[in-house]
Amino acid sequence: MLEKYLSRIDFDSYEDFVENFKINVPDNFNFAYDVVDEIAAKSPDKLAIVWCDEKGNEATFTFGQLKYYSDKAANFFTKVGIGKGDPVMLILKRRYEFWFAILALHKIGAICIPATHLLTAKDIIYRNNAADIKMIVCVGEDEVIKHVEESMSQSPTLKAVALVGGSKEGWYDFNKEVEEASPEFARPTGDKATTNDDIMLLYFTSGTTGMPKMVRHNFTYPLGHIITAKYWQNVEDGGLHLTVADTGWAKAVWGKIYGQWLAGAAVFVYDYDKFVPKDLLNIISKYGITTFCAPPTIYRFFIKEDLSKFDLSKLKYCVVAGEPLNPEVYNQFYKATGIKLMEGYGQTELTVVLGTFPWMEPKPGSMGKPSPEYEVDIVDENGKSCEIGEEGQIVIRTGKNIPVGMFGGYYRDEALTKKVWHDDVYYTGDMAWKDEDGYFWFVGRADDVIKSSGYRIGPFEVESALLEHPAVLECAITAVPDPIRGQIVKATVVLTKNYTPSDALVKELQDHVKKVTAPYKYPRIVEFVDELPKTISGKIRRVEIRERDA
Ligand code: ATP
Ligand code: MG
Repeated sequence: MLEKYLSRIDFDSYEDFVENFKINVPDNFNFAYDVVDEIAAKSPDKLAIVWCDEKGNEATFTFGQLKYYSDKAANFFTKVGIGKGDPVMLILKRRYEFWFAILALHKIGAICIPATHLLTAKDIIYRNNAADIKMIVCVGEDEVIKHVEESMSQSPTLKAVALVGGSKEGWYDFNKEVEEASPEFARPTGDKATTNDDIMLLYFTSGTTGMPKMVRHNFTYPLGHIITAKYWQNVEDGGLHLTVADTGWAKAVWGKIYGQWLAGAAVFVYDYDKFVPKDLLNIISKYGITTFCAPPTIYRFFIKEDLSKFDLSKLKYCVVAGEPLNPEVYNQFYKATGIKLMEGYGQTELTVVLGTFPWMEPKPGSMGKPSPEYEVDIVDENGKSCEIGEEGQIVIRTGKNIPVGMFGGYYRDEALTKKVWHDDVYYTGDMAWKDEDGYFWFVGRADDVIKSSGYRIGPFEVESALLEHPAVLECAITAVPDPIRGQIVKATVVLTKNYTPSDALVKELQDHVKKVTAPYKYPRIVEFVDELPKTISGKIRRVEIRERDA
C-alpha cells in the first residue's frame, strides 16, 4: 500500500530520510475507498482491528468486514439524510462501531467530529451550534443520552440522533439499522465525490491552555500520518499496534486508523473506562502487542508496577507524546524493560513534527528532530531564528510547502487562525531550544514560562527535577505574581503514598531542586494537593493553578 504514496520507503539514516522522503498525494484521495476498500479487495482476510473490553468481550475485524460494515453504515447515514459536507458528531468512546461510522462518513464525504463522552449538555450545545451539527451518534449510556437530550431544544440544526449499544424512543438504533442496511454502497461521483480540499474531520484540541479549539483537516490528512505510524511508531506490516487514546481526541487518529493501516499493521483497541496499569499491562502481554504509543502519564504509572511480572516479549517498540517526558521516567522504563522510549512532538493541528526516529539514538528528555514534512525553526520574540542553545518558540515555516497533514485552520475562526499562522509562519505556542546535534528540548508552553528577576524559567525542567525525588508522584510548576521579582516559582505537588506534607519536606524538596538544577529555579512556594487539575485527556492544566493563585 505504501508504494502508492511514497517515492521511497526504506531509508538508511535520519539524514537520508529527511532528504529523500516524499509523499505523493493523488487527486481526490479518500482513505475509506483508496486504502480500506482497496486492501479489502486484494486481501479481504487481512486483520484490521483486534478489540476487547474490560468485561472480556472480544471481536476482530478484517478489512473485508470493515468494507462491508462501513458500506452498510454509509447507507444508513444516507437514509437519515446525511450527505456530503454535513457535520456529524461521534461520541463513541472506544466502541468498535466508531470505525464503521468514521469510515462511512468518509465515504459519504460528511464531516466527522469525534468528541468525548465527558461533554456536558452545555458543551454539546456549544459544539452543535459552532459546527451546525446535523446528527449525533453516541454510546447508549444514560449519562451521555441525558446530555444529548438536554442539548436538543437549543440545537436547531440537529436532525437525528442514534445510539450504539442501546435503543430508545426517538433515537435510531445504530446497530439494528446497520444490520438491516444494504451492503452495497457505490463511491459517489461528480459533485458528490470528495476532493482533497474538502473538510474530512474536525477535532477539538485538548483545552490545556483555554477553551478547546476546533481544528479543520481535509481529505489528505491521513497521508500525513504515514510518518506517524511507519517512521515514528515504527509499526510493522502484520504487527499489532496499540495507541492509548479515547476516540474523542486527535491522538486516536494518530494511532488507531490511518497510518497504521497504510503501513499494514492491525490496530488494537482496549475499550475501558478506568485506567488500571496492571490491566493494561496484562492486555499488552495477552494479545502480543508489538508496538505501543501512550502519553507520559501512562508510563509514569507503569514504572510503579513490577514490570518483570508481565510477559512483554512481543513488545518491540514504544513511543511517547502529548506532554513532556521526564528523563526519570525514560530511565526507569528502560531499566525495567530494555526498551528505549522514542519521544515525538505534535499537536491536534499537526502530525508528528519532531520525533526520535528509528535511526536515532534517543536523548532522554528530548523530543527528537524535525520530521521531513515540516520545516521547523525556533524563533525569538522578534521572529529571528535562535542560536543553538537559545530558547524560543517552535514555529513551522510554510512558505515553500504546506506539510501534508497540517490543518487548514480553526473552523469558522479566521481571526484565531491568522493569529497563530501568518506570513508563512505557524506559531505552535511551545517553547524549546536546540542542541548541537539538532535535537529539540521542550521548555514549556509559551504561556507557562516564568519570568523571575530577569531569569526565564521553563516549568518542565523544574518539574523533572522534582520528580526525581521519591516523595513526588506528580507536580506542576507555575508562576505566582510577586512585587519584587515580578514572578516567583511555585510547585504544586502530589505526594507518593508514604509521604505527608510538612515544612521539613518543603525544605527538602527545595534543596533537592537547588542541587539538581540551577539554584535560582527552585520553588519558593510549595503547595501539597491531592490531585492536579487536568484536562479530560489527562494533561496538567497549569492555567487553572495560576488563576486560583491570582
Ligand atoms: P489546547 O490547545 O486546547 O490548549 P493542547 O495544546 O494540549 O490543548 P493537543 O493538540 O492535544 O492540545 O496537544 C498539543 C500540545 O501537547 C503541544 O502543543 C505541546 O504543548 C504538547 N506536547 C505534545 N507532545 C509533546 C512532547 N513530546 N513534549 C512536550 N509537550 C508536548
Ligand atoms: Mg494547543
